[in-house]
Amino acid sequence: MSEITEGINPPMITVNELTKTYDGKVDAIRDISLTIAKGEFTVIFGPSGVGKSTFLRCLNYMVKPTSGEVIIEGESVGDLSTSKLLRLRSRVGMIFQSFNLVNRMTVLSNVMCGRLHSLSFLRALTYSFTHADHEAAIHALQRAGLEDDELYNRRSDTLSGGQQQRVAIARMLVQNPKIILADEPVASLDMKMQHTIMRLISDIATKDKITVVMSLHHLDLAKQYASRIIGLSDGQVAFDGPPESLSDDIIDKVFKIVDDKVIGTQDD
Ligand code: ADP
Ligand code: MG
Repeated sequence: MSEITEGINPPMITVNELTKTYDGKVDAIRDISLTIAKGEFTVIFGPSGVGKSTFLRCLNYMVKPTSGEVIIEGESVGDLSTSKLLRLRSRVGMIFQSFNLVNRMTVLSNVMCGRLHSLSFLRALTYSFTHADHEAAIHALQRAGLEDDELYNRRSDTLSGGQQQRVAIARMLVQNPKIILADEPVASLDMKMQHTIMRLISDIATKDKITVVMSLHHLDLAKQYASRIIGLSDGQVAFDGPPESLSDDIIDKVFKIVDDKVIGTQDD
């Protein structure tokens, strides 16, 4: 837990000695132990290849850790039955750099897919959504800043990048998530839209008291929006603290410098 939230909010996610080795040879993350408190906005920061995506995916066992433990609200994720793991995942919203929408489906259908977790097997199989699903999707789209209902029946791939990420955020909102895992959610967007989407995620998380764990390789964004920054270097925690403690001195020592810039602070 960071200094800010320690002793205030209960733990939401605890990882103990978490390690993921791909194919028996690539140590993507090594021996990571930390606790994230409920409501924290944590940014996992570091240049490409340090293990940010692997760390995020291990939290809900999308990637199965090689060793170590993930505990969410007191339950060890590795010990959950399949049905309990699915139930946990239904409350963990995910947002990705590439939006991960179904291109050929409409905006509204993409958002309603976020409700699939809560549908009966048969209804999920046949994509039969109810009036309540429809209403929830529209409400979520409005919260995500897509007010224009002309967009709702368009194929999702006809929207701009920023609009597509709003659709993905709406899809996540209908899950009523308690945790958001966001993997470089603004890396495909221009700088103005990066701030718009970061602010949107931050506002939603604050209002709904959602715990956010987000990977970013952009230091300025991390400093501006995170309540806590965890800097990874070569699969291990190299910095953990509030943004104001991440001094230039630490940045120079911990992260690699290329052409006088910390790798990852340049825009995409
Ligand atoms: P980041 O998100 O910080 O760029 P990743 O977690 O994607 O880092 O990758 C960490 C390391 O693990 C890298 O060396 C990467 O090549 C490797 N890696 C990631 N995914 C796989 C995979 N599915 N199979 C093998 N190696 C992988
Ligand atoms: Mg990544």
